Amino acid sequence: MAKTLFQKIIDREIPAEIVYEDERCLAFHDVQPQAPTHVLLIPKKPIESIDRIAEEDADLLGHLWLTIGKLASELQLAGGYRVVINCGDDGGQTVDHLHFHILGGRAMTWPPG
Ligand code: 5GP
Repeated sequence: MAKTLFQKIIDREIPAEIVYEDERCLAFHDVQPQAPTHVLLIPKKPIESIDRIAEEDADLLGHLWLTIGKLASELQLAGGYRVVINCGDDGGQTVDHLHFHILGGRAMTWPPG
């Protein structure tokens, strides 16, 4: 199966502005930011989407959520921020590797488009 764009970023085959990395995840700036701060957090494990999360991934998902909290602090998003996960075509997912959008630095609107 062909590597996804995000797998290529993990493997350092294409560049990204990385803001955090540990043994289980990687965070980097989105190339088309939708807010003053727009960071993507991805697991290094190639989970395709929310729909493909397995029971065995529960600990990894907990780690990702805890990392989001730490990143928000490091990115100075004390005023608040939004976490978005797009899933599937209708959800607007364009890269088939689970990713969390962390958006901040401006007031968000609701409902999302
Ligand atoms: P999705 O639409 O799947 O939820 O989010 C994919 C995100 O990846 C989009 O926000 C898009 O701007 C971002 N993206 C696409 N290509 C690249 C790239 O080459 N580098 C980085 N850093 N982000 C990318």
